[in-house]
Amino acid sequence: MPSLFETDIRKLKGVGEKRAALFAKLGAPTVGDLLRLYPRDYQDWSEVTPISEAGIDEVCVVRGEVASPPIEQRIRGGKLMHRCTVTDGVSNMKLTFFNNRYIPSLLKEGETYLFRGRIGASGRTASMVSPEFAPADRSAEIVPIYPATQGLTSRSVAQAVRSAMALLPDTLEDPLPGEIREQYKLCYLGYALENVHFPKTMEDLEIARRRLVFEEFLVLQLGLMEIKSGSRQENLHPIPGGFPEEFTRLLPFKLTGAQQRAVTEGVKDMSGPSTMNRLVQGDVGSGKTAVAAALCWPVIKAGQQAALMAPTEILAAQHYKSLSGLLEPAGVRCGLLTGGAGAEHKRVREGIRSGEIELAIGTHALISEKVEFHELGLVITDEQHRFGVKQRMALAQKGASPHMLVMSATPIPRTLALMAYGDLDVSVLDELPPGRQEIATYLIGPDKRGRAFGYVRKFLDEGRQGYLVCPLIEGDESGMMSLEEYLSRVREAFPGVEVAALHGRMKPAEKEQVMAGFAKGDTRLLVATTVVEVGMDVPNAAIMLIENAERYGLSQLHQLRGRIGRGKFQSACILISAARNPESVERLKVFKSTNDGFAIADADLKLRGPGDFFGQRQHGLPQLKIASMSMDMELLKEAQKCARRIYRSGALEGCDYRLLRGEIRRLFEKTGGGRLAL
Ligand code: ADP
Ligand code: MG
Repeated sequence: MPSLFETDIRKLKGVGEKRAALFAKLGAPTVGDLLRLYPRDYQDWSEVTPISEAGIDEVCVVRGEVASPPIEQRIRGGKLMHRCTVTDGVSNMKLTFFNNRYIPSLLKEGETYLFRGRIGASGRTASMVSPEFAPADRSAEIVPIYPATQGLTSRSVAQAVRSAMALLPDTLEDPLPGEIREQYKLCYLGYALENVHFPKTMEDLEIARRRLVFEEFLVLQLGLMEIKSGSRQENLHPIPGGFPEEFTRLLPFKLTGAQQRAVTEGVKDMSGPSTMNRLVQGDVGSGKTAVAAALCWPVIKAGQQAALMAPTEILAAQHYKSLSGLLEPAGVRCGLLTGGAGAEHKRVREGIRSGEIELAIGTHALISEKVEFHELGLVITDEQHRFGVKQRMALAQKGASPHMLVMSATPIPRTLALMAYGDLDVSVLDELPPGRQEIATYLIGPDKRGRAFGYVRKFLDEGRQGYLVCPLIEGDESGMMSLEEYLSRVREAFPGVEVAALHGRMKPAEKEQVMAGFAKGDTRLLVATTVVEVGMDVPNAAIMLIENAERYGLSQLHQLRGRIGRGKFQSACILISAARNPESVERLKVFKSTNDGFAIADADLKLRGPGDFFGQRQHGLPQLKIASMSMDMELLKEAQKCARRIYRSGALEGCDYRLLRGEIRRLFEKTGGGRLAL
């Protein structure tokens, strides 16, 4: 029998050319894909709540008899409204419907229906507005809600899934060998599919889901392990071993223990038999740049080039400034390559081509076609989460399998790091340079802005500098100030203080000028959008005020706050927010309570899910269909353990795992040629 994954969706009854295109849009061009198109939600009609026990704001299913025929009314704008009362024999509930002229024919006096909706209150009586309803004699069930698209409703997807289920053989082969299912108490695939789509009870659904999530994680893990082992390439750029003492003597400080460890690990990689693929993960301010520079040193001393790619011009310029300042006196030639053209651009490109420039620092400009290296031995990407795997690869392709160092300032919970960077070895900088002070963080309402400005003033009087962060808004649809307005307000509040503005729409040269002014200390206050999030390193800046703080995610706030507290001065961060919704308030409270990036990352994951870590970013990971990185953490850990065991034992090659191997191939094929990275 051909695999269901090769069986075209048109094989199903009622699916023709047109529908097939819609199914393809939902990611289900084949019958097999359709079976793995899981409901995004379920409506539980099986549990009926007595009206008297239905809590306000809860979504409930209520069984009620229509006590009086619906009354029709015309309201504002010619809208149609119907009202009626239903009773469950003990209590009444009031229903209101808008713009549905069929209500009188659908709801008959004296008949009983199931109503599903959010409970409100109308005086002392419970109420529902525009509930869904069905005749009560229809057997109560759990209704799957599928992703739908224009022209294809959740209901028709459900129908197609039903007919797809009918095509399954009775003895469906399970990619999870019986031994694994037994050990981890996982149900059989046939049962899982039936119950993830059409569960009879929520318990059945849970059993089905658990198995599917486990399988998905297992397949992902095994795939990543294969890639990691496959990406081990012969080291074409071996460097002599040994700690680069000569380099550390150039530094104005002593490396922290964590920095030393990371450098040692990197040198060991690069002097070993295979190419280095290493991630240095460290909170803002943990000193990743020094680690990068220390690893460039032996590469350059061995006669090769290193390249450092940063996500923004600001950051690239800053790296160039600090690294050339450090290394050029020791005879290392550095070059900066950012967007644009012109003579300077050409000169730097020439230098990179001839090998005269030994350390090339830049933005994406480094991967443009025109750029050629003489002999590229080491590629470094800073703030990795902003680059996709593809860009990292593009830079690597400028050389013959150069060593790779990836730096990330986004603390990612360890389990996730394992997933996201499955192809990399990890060094963690879990120690901040000495003398750093905890940043005090305050949360206030906009009515206290005046006092906050007074507080900023105190810092300025003591000789410090500060950031005022404000979202870049044009006009004020949402009642928020535009950067322009805010700027003039700030200027008014701080007469005699040199204030400048920095935002993403400025020309690179303008930005640079503003940054230089702030770094030199000529500018005392910088009104900025989140462009300051990465890169700015001005140790004298000790106060930050963040307007509309609720607009930012936890990790982003953390990055912002990382711009202060970089020197020896006690620093403070003031969040201004009028937000009332519990989720925002919770987020800001968490942020206030800790400076620890890993704790913040964990909280972010819990509050918002992994979207922020993995969402829009092209991380190169296959899309998960059912598992959630944040909700299914425990299963993820179990699957990780299981994957390691399978992998080490070599069992994956065996015939019991034939189907699982197929699943791995299928999952990773979609992410581009079956290779995740490198
Ligand atoms: P990251 O990139 O990890 O956020 P940076 O590399 O920009 O951090 O370093 C932050 C600041 O700390 C810089 O001003 C840097 O010079 C300084 N720094 C780095 N390592 C040390 C150290 N071991 N001791 C003292 N200061 C350090
Ligand atoms: Mg950095």
